[in-house]
Amino acid sequence: MDRISHWIGGAAVAGTSGRTGVVWNPATGVQSAEVDLASTDEVAAAVAVAKDAQRGWRATGLSRRAEVMFRLRDLIDANKKDLADIISAEHGKVPSDALGEIARGLENVEYACGIPNLLKGGYSEQAATGVDVYSIRQPLGVVAGITPFNFPAMVPLWMLANALACGNAFILKPSEKDPSASLFLADLLAQAGLPPGVFNVVHGDKEAVDAILAHPDIAAVSFVGSTPIARYIYETGTAAGKRVQALGGAKNHMLVLPDADLDMAADAAVSAAFGSAGERCMAVSVVLAVDAIADDLVAKVAERIPAIKVGPGTDPANEMGPLITAEHRDKVAGYVTGAAGEGATVVVDGTEGTPPDGFFLNPTLLDGVAPGMRCYDDEIFGPVLTVARVGSYDEGLRLINDNPYGNGTAIFTRDGGVARQFQFDVEVGMVGINVPIPVPVSYYSFGGWKASLFGDSHMYGPDGVNFYTRGKVVTSRWPDPATSSVNLGFPQNR
Ligand code: NAD
Repeated sequence: MDRISHWIGGAAVAGTSGRTGVVWNPATGVQSAEVDLASTDEVAAAVAVAKDAQRGWRATGLSRRAEVMFRLRDLIDANKKDLADIISAEHGKVPSDALGEIARGLENVEYACGIPNLLKGGYSEQAATGVDVYSIRQPLGVVAGITPFNFPAMVPLWMLANALACGNAFILKPSEKDPSASLFLADLLAQAGLPPGVFNVVHGDKEAVDAILAHPDIAAVSFVGSTPIARYIYETGTAAGKRVQALGGAKNHMLVLPDADLDMAADAAVSAAFGSAGERCMAVSVVLAVDAIADDLVAKVAERIPAIKVGPGTDPANEMGPLITAEHRDKVAGYVTGAAGEGATVVVDGTEGTPPDGFFLNPTLLDGVAPGMRCYDDEIFGPVLTVARVGSYDEGLRLINDNPYGNGTAIFTRDGGVARQFQFDVEVGMVGINVPIPVPVSYYSFGGWKASLFGDSHMYGPDGVNFYTRGKVVTSRWPDPATSSVNLGFPQNR
């Protein structure tokens, strides 16, 4: 059985806790490896290495740090196929989808290549006679990232590219369900010239996470995962005096108005609901169909579903892979089998005709869902698209704004005025106008509202650079005999 170890000080380090987790191949249902789960002491050892390495790294010139990012960019691009295969084997998403996640992660490395420009401060000459004032941003020290199973390369890259370029050392605690992509990235970072110890990977579960949250030498924690854990990370981390950004779960609604191009809306809904088997925090999980077009839209979605090729990523023809574990597949299937009893209509039942091995569930379409039903209220995180029928734009907007989550949303319409009003009214952090998965490009920042994000800072882009640095303002005066005198008054700028 393959053993997946930690990465500390620039090399693989075998775990010593005696605890391991199971890594599955979700497409076959067979265990592929076991992963070491770090103890509190092992986390502390990684932090000590990172703290030591950070002193030299923060003193390294900006051009040199940018050069490491440029090299990392080329290395990821050159090795993306191997990385996609690793992701597919442990996560289950098909390689074409894994390549998409790598491309979006790479954007963040490209953004971080501009770090000399991003860290330029302000300068005010002659704020008072002979006095200049300037602002600089400095790294925090050792920072940590705790990441979910569903984007084993992209979400770590959201964090580590900016964190490292800003001069921090980084401890990554990836999902224990698909841990190998993080080690592949660690190796590429070493090849790119990052000094040993600046980037470290500790695998683990709650024990490792709690050790990160409690460690006094970790200045900041970035988290992406489910809402209950995000809340816990935010509350525990901030209580321990850390800077925390904790992104949580989602329930993304797509509002389709009667004037929308219904074929385009159906294509978008199917792509965004069933891509990556619905295991995306930006997946569309609810279509809000205005009554006038609801029957047509449901029919158009239903007719597209049988064409989706479901199966293992080892066959390049497949478009949708399995779910991450048998337990998760069974949980998602429970929403489908329970839907009729809650009053929904099962238009396409994905529990039927699934591939024989692995943790598969076929695309499912539920119509007539409404608040109060579990399939509407819960984040399902699987290939289940639900349709709620609404009488008007206002009713659709109200449902979105009443939802406790606020990650992503989309409106489909040809009416620019209504779209603009939607963007003004909707209480969601990322909005698509005829775009179903509005994940911001890397030079904006990613983050939801309400129960989809705890903390004040969105992730990556300008918010990422701010999150991983702290500001300092320097007021300076150089000896000038002409302006020097004794003055006991409080220094003034005028
Ligand atoms: P998860 O919350 O179970 O796990 C996320 C991380 O937290 C993992 O590293 C895991 O080891 C750790 N963890 C799990 N239980 C813990 C506990 N009790 N105490 C401390 N740490 C714990 O999430 P997941 O199942 O890996 O990922 C899916 C979830 O992530 C979905 O809810 C999805 O919406 C969300 N997600 C959100 C975003 C976003 O940007 N908002 C992006 C991707 C995924």
